[in-house]
Amino acid sequence: MEKRELLYDGKAKQIFATDDPKYVIMNYKDDASAYYGVKKSSIKDKGMMNCHISEIIFNYLQKCGIKTHLVKCIDDNNMLCRRVKAIPLEFIVRNLIAGSLARRLDIQEGTMPQSPIYEICLKSDLLRDPMINRFHVKALGYATDETLDAILKMLKQVNEALQKLFRQVDIDVVDFKLEFGFDNDGELILIDEISPDTARFWDSNSKEILDSDRFRRDLGQVEEAYHEVLDRLQKLTSNLD
Ligand code: 5GP
Repeated sequence: MEKRELLYDGKAKQIFATDDPKYVIMNYKDDASAYYGVKKSSIKDKGMMNCHISEIIFNYLQKCGIKTHLVKCIDDNNMLCRRVKAIPLEFIVRNLIAGSLARRLDIQEGTMPQSPIYEICLKSDLLRDPMINRFHVKALGYATDETLDAILKMLKQVNEALQKLFRQVDIDVVDFKLEFGFDNDGELILIDEISPDTARFWDSNSKEILDSDRFRRDLGQVEEAYHEVLDRLQKLTSNLD
């Protein structure tokens, strides 16, 4: 497949057209950003690590019956993906309280809620991804009730599958952000990435932070943390093969 024009240049990824209108190439960059682009840097090999972490996770989710945009990795930083019409929303799933929810409701990080918490945000850097509810989603036409119900079902499935996968590598899936779109056949599929950039991962035993919070909070050893997640997943999946 041939790489063609740049369609989108984001903070951590670029999307290129291909010679087939049904597919795009997603290029994972080493660029790191936080606080809606206010804090910027570069993390060595982050693109490669996120590309492979997402590949392992999406392959696993597909085996669990969850449709994703992943076709295959072309090289260390580039992923061939199904082209979609993206839904302009971000869905957050929280198994433990952390980050913005800990701050907003003044709850200690690490507290376990009685059940997973689901949040919907409008995807807009300019507005800082404001949280909205399903009434906004329907009334403002971001998605239909039917689509939202299908997404909520997928969030639950993805969460259960992710927890099952990461339990095997002694990592707590604290929270994560998902995005969805409709492919060429009008089917709802999971898009974007699942990586330490878009999820919080804590070592199950030491509770050491193994995700982008190391960058956001200046904790150091960012690259090492991403490597740790990738190494554990690679070891697990090579044992399963
Ligand atoms: P929080 O709302 O606590 O900042 O984020 C919750 C979870 O969603 C974290 O795992 C965080 O990485 C992810 N997340 C939320 N919004 C974004 C976003 O705009 N970009 C990325 N990369 N991750 C996000």
